[in-house]
Amino acid sequence: MPTPALERLRKILELEEKQKWRNRAVIGGMKAMSHRWLDDARQEKADAATVNAIAHLLPSYDSADQEERRQIIKQIRQILAGDLSDIEIPLQKSDSSASKSFAPDSGLSGAKANAPQPKAAPDGPIAPAEATDIAEKRVRKKRATVKANPQDLQADTQLLPGVGKVVCEQLQRVGIEQVADLLWHLPFRYEDYSQLRTISELQPGEQVTVIANLWEVSERKISMKRTMIQGILADGTGTLHATWWNKYVKKQLKIGNAMRFSGKVGLYMGQKTLDNPTFEELDEERVATGRIAPIYRLTEKLSNKRVRNLVKHVLDNYARFLTDPLPDPVRADFNLLDLKSALKQIHFPEDQEQLAAARHRLAFAEFFYIQLGALQRREKMQRHVAPSLSCNDEQLAQFHAALAFELTGAQQRVLGEIRNDLTRTIPMTRLVQGDVGSGKTAVAAAAMYIAALNGAQSALLAPTQILAEQHHRGIAALVESLSNGEGEPIRVALLTGRVTGTERAQVLEGLRDGSIDIVVGTTALIQENVQFNKLGFAVVDEQHRFGVQQRGAFRTGNEHPHLIVMSATPIPRSLALTIYGDLDLSIIDEMPPGRTPIKTRWFKPNEREKLYSFLRREVAAGRQGFIVYPLVEESEKLEAGAAIDAYERLRKEVFFNERVALLHGRMSGNEKDEVMRAFSQGEYDILVSTSVIEVGIDVPNASLIIIEDAERFGLAQLHQFRGRVGRGQHKSYCALISKGTSANAEERLLALEESNDGFVLAEKDLELRGPGDFFGTKQSGLPELRAAQLSDLETLAEARQAAQALFAEDPTLEKYPHLAKQVARFWRGHGDVS
Ligand code: ADP
Ligand code: MG
Repeated sequence: MPTPALERLRKILELEEKQKWRNRAVIGGMKAMSHRWLDDARQEKADAATVNAIAHLLPSYDSADQEERRQIIKQIRQILAGDLSDIEIPLQKSDSSASKSFAPDSGLSGAKANAPQPKAAPDGPIAPAEATDIAEKRVRKKRATVKANPQDLQADTQLLPGVGKVVCEQLQRVGIEQVADLLWHLPFRYEDYSQLRTISELQPGEQVTVIANLWEVSERKISMKRTMIQGILADGTGTLHATWWNKYVKKQLKIGNAMRFSGKVGLYMGQKTLDNPTFEELDEERVATGRIAPIYRLTEKLSNKRVRNLVKHVLDNYARFLTDPLPDPVRADFNLLDLKSALKQIHFPEDQEQLAAARHRLAFAEFFYIQLGALQRREKMQRHVAPSLSCNDEQLAQFHAALAFELTGAQQRVLGEIRNDLTRTIPMTRLVQGDVGSGKTAVAAAAMYIAALNGAQSALLAPTQILAEQHHRGIAALVESLSNGEGEPIRVALLTGRVTGTERAQVLEGLRDGSIDIVVGTTALIQENVQFNKLGFAVVDEQHRFGVQQRGAFRTGNEHPHLIVMSATPIPRSLALTIYGDLDLSIIDEMPPGRTPIKTRWFKPNEREKLYSFLRREVAAGRQGFIVYPLVEESEKLEAGAAIDAYERLRKEVFFNERVALLHGRMSGNEKDEVMRAFSQGEYDILVSTSVIEVGIDVPNASLIIIEDAERFGLAQLHQFRGRVGRGQHKSYCALISKGTSANAEERLLALEESNDGFVLAEKDLELRGPGDFFGTKQSGLPELRAAQLSDLETLAEARQAAQALFAEDPTLEKYPHLAKQVARFWRGHGDVS
């Protein structure tokens, strides 16, 4: 006997087959539906064997692939048919609510139909069939009237219907200038209406989003000050009572409307509740079709709906004029969507798989352009000529002898790579990566010595005065006993903003006449008035601290010296190979011997006193320590404020016997340098600081760093902070103070406890945080990535491989002029070090 439940299921399956097994026939999916359905079927006393057989098959539907789904439905239909075969009674026509809702073309929710329909008019979430109809009609109408030309893609957005001067300006504010830009305004997240839950499925304690009708709103005064607003929400499967404690929400609650509510489900006297849920008006068209809806980043005035409609309009009318820059063979080899389909799917995904395919294709393209651009620049750079700088083994032995230590294996290997490059007349452009304290400077100094032997000058660019001074001292000491090619002592000079008057004039003169062999400095080095006699080799230390222009500054004009850029931000090799694809890569992956690993531990804020006592004991033993207050980076003022307050309090109430200094970003460069200098000379015991201490300051006597609010920072940065200690022979400690606000934050802190290896942490960082956070896209000198995630190493590797193959075959991209243009456009405005 076909009970209503069995009959309903038959229709759902029919619809599902029509819709090509996408698990769309029921909002929320088959699996969620199956529980309710089973209850219903059992209550109706449907044939137990039939029901059990179905119960066995239905729940696996969601996770099955398309072919499996086809099979599942086929089997269920056979089960159902077996039951129906000897029954003559036609369908229960009287049960109009069930059969009407399942008109196969309505694309609607089974959930809605299988619960008792409320009598009140605003039933069920929406009227899906109507909404779809209207939407389709609207689209059809537009299609009929728009006359589009290929060049319209580049036209002003005022070309589009409903876009006047005002909207056009609003669009410009989010970077949309031309019609085509709308296609590249990618959603930053999606609302997946294909997986919606119904009220009957909700469990107390869950954080949920539901779509429901607002039936009723009432207001109750609880006390003089407090008013409670209560709303009754229904979606046809049940009701929820929502409460707000802010009477102003009442104005925004429109009775009879379907809205989206998000909050935590509670239970009060057997009734499901939502306490203070957030809500917004629905996007009915999307919900009706059970689709994945795009959510765009917006300015105040532009609604999501507006942007979405514009994007849809452009997709429908202009996308066909797009030419796909990716060569067909590349697309075929790597199984990538074409551009138009990818854009369509990224804005209006058919399902999660299509969305993933679209993302993959767009990300692949971005990586592909990056790599091609890098290969082209590398090729261009190699057409320049640099002086060949060589030395014999005996000369190099003199350098080794002058060192107070033996170079590590890794240092020697990297020095070998550099030495080899220097002998060639192709300008070396090499990235030297090495964790904090791995000894990059000594390697750079060796190369500078080689340059001096060849009568060429070298320059080292450092990000701060104090670092420049530190390098100057270190390098001067290293080469003190060595001579240049003419047998004279190597002359090392310093050029920073603090070098003034006659001293400065002398340095400038010495650089011009060639009597200075090595100069170390800040950006004062790359000012116009600085002229070198023969610059053969340049080093940029902590390269991420510099803009792309500054990194390349040594290579303007006729000079084309060899160049290394150094970085203590270890990034995974495959990533480095692509994003710095125009550079060669050297990695110092070994620490000098005798370093005891820094002991790192995460503390809760209530353990602070214990740490202070520990710091006192370290100071008493002659050590020094840092306390870092790294607040949000955007607000240097706030950050400084917090550090100043903490400093005052610590000095007066905690460390009144110790000498405490303060360092923050609102101090002038000179003030900062003064404080650091005094601290490194032991004039203070404790340095209270904001995040400005991050850069490679070398204070070997410091043995403890306490980092407040550690969860606010990425792994890479925390690792940099930690590198401020453990630079001498003393056992060193890093204490991370954090409440531990999220699982992600805790994972980061634990990773730091576990590993001292920058590369391991870099991998972890990529995994845990978005790419932008990793080194700030601004700093990486990369074009802006819209679709690609730097953590997507698989796509990255594929794109690199594809780019290399194409470049080897057709370096000028002659066969693919469109691609060539695209690569150029992609990199426009992004300089490079070559
Ligand atoms: P970084 O790579 O972070 O710039 P530095 O070049 O500042 O590191 O070196 C860190 C410290 O290690 C310096 O005090 C330096 O003198 C020392 N150092 C460098 N190489 C070695 C080595 N092979 N053995 C011992 N100490 C070394
Ligand atoms: Mg350094």
